[in-house]
Amino acid sequence: MTAPNDNANATRGISYEEPLSFERSRPGRVGYSLPELNAEERAALAAIPSDLLREELADLPELSEVDVIRHFTRLSTWNTSVDHGLYPLGSCTMKYNPKINEVVARLPGFAAAHPMQPAGLAQGLLRLCYMLERQLAEISGMDRVTLQPAAGAQGELAGIMMIRAYHEQRGEGRTKVLIPDSAHGTNPASAALNGYSVVPIPSGDDGILHPEAVEAAMADDVAALMLTNPNTLGFFESHMVRIAEIVHSKGGLVYGDGANLNAILGVARPGDLGIDVMHFNLHKTFSTPHGGGGPGAGPVGVVNQLAPYLPVPVVAKVAGPEGERFALDYEFPHSIGRLHANFGNVGMMVRAFAYIRSLGPDGLRRCAEMAVLNANYLQARLRDIFSVPYEGAVMHECVFSDKSLEATGVTTLDVAKRLIDYGYHPPTIYFPLIVHGALMIEPTESESLEGLDRFVETLLTISREAQEDPELLRGAPHNTRLRRLDETQAARRPILRWQAPSD
Ligand SMILES: *Cc1c(COP(=O)(O)O)cnc(C)c1O
Repeated sequence: MTAPNDNANATRGISYEEPLSFERSRPGRVGYSLPELNAEERAALAAIPSDLLREELADLPELSEVDVIRHFTRLSTWNTSVDHGLYPLGSCTMKYNPKINEVVARLPGFAAAHPMQPAGLAQGLLRLCYMLERQLAEISGMDRVTLQPAAGAQGELAGIMMIRAYHEQRGEGRTKVLIPDSAHGTNPASAALNGYSVVPIPSGDDGILHPEAVEAAMADDVAALMLTNPNTLGFFESHMVRIAEIVHSKGGLVYGDGANLNAILGVARPGDLGIDVMHFNLHKTFSTPHGGGGPGAGPVGVVNQLAPYLPVPVVAKVAGPEGERFALDYEFPHSIGRLHANFGNVGMMVRAFAYIRSLGPDGLRRCAEMAVLNANYLQARLRDIFSVPYEGAVMHECVFSDKSLEATGVTTLDVAKRLIDYGYHPPTIYFPLIVHGALMIEPTESESLEGLDRFVETLLTISREAQEDPELLRGAPHNTRLRRLDETQAARRPILRWQAPSD
């Protein structure tokens, strides 16, 4: 192990420790140069009441600018990001974020807007929010959109709250929500948080939902069906329209999980397929950096029937003597209330707006087409290495299993860990739950053909390694700062289902 050093090349290795900034602190070292205080300024400083001075801040590390910049730059290289390379995390849609979106989000009028700024002084920002609402409504075929929720999960919560409010308003005490067994865990969680019991609906052998299965479960006590289209196996729910009819015929509503909207942008609209309420993941479909707990935005679109229940405030366009103005409207007596302080994660709205405007309708459609083409290319090239649990042309992501590696003892987890050694972020693993040893790959539209080929070559290499030297994979990753955590017990444990099957 070598000593701590500042050599940039060493930052990628595993062989040294990065000291804390506190450990590098040297008395009197500073990262700024300011002129000496004059007498007046010294007097002003001395006049600060002592009870407002915080003693505990006296121990901050004392570092030069170089120390600070190098420390944080080195730390940043321990991480991975979409700016490093392919980040094929299925369902999460980690696409490249055009830098122009960042430039726009950093414009002082947006970035420095105060959350409590009165509407009269935030007209540009409110106009942007209003326009983004209209764009999302047009893209999705919904009537109204709220930008407030801070994540897809919170959007689901909001959507199901609106569904509950709608039924309660009509005096109907519905108690159940139907959810396909391929669903993301946040779907049953959102239903359960609203007091509903969850009824799982089995997917067919072809990986999609069939009208017969919905018909069998649909009853007068069902508040809603929640489904994801394309679903988490990457398939388009081609019976969507019929399924929505079945749910509506018994007075239920249809919730669309829009996390996979990037696959159908400009091609199909959830509203036209019978969806009554849906969330958008701005941070998946409409660029915006995410991951590592970074910011999210989960706007929710609704049909007019549900508009009275939208969270407040709603951005409204009002005609006045000086022309068109934008205001925050709180007058929604049936509103489910407020879901977020102030107005949500506004910076992400600016990025999404820039993304949508710079691509335009044709560009958005091309995003979907390229994402679908890329996923099918990977499915076709990787099917010799990994098993394909559900056959069929996919949309924007493809799901494999580790069944083909059974004889080697190598599992999906080992493949994922080995990919890290080759500089790739692993794909989503062990999800969806209905695929044993799942490996879920989403290339997005960001990748070039050569980039996809390099990824395929890497997986081919890894599958050779699995045959020749399985221990190499079981010990991976080898080139990272931290080695594998002891998660073997967790990985071998039977997969916990969100609702135990009846047997
Ligand atoms: C990501 C995702 C969610 C949840 O969205 P967050 O923004 O992470 O809260 C819900 N459903 C599906 C299918 C997802 O991929």
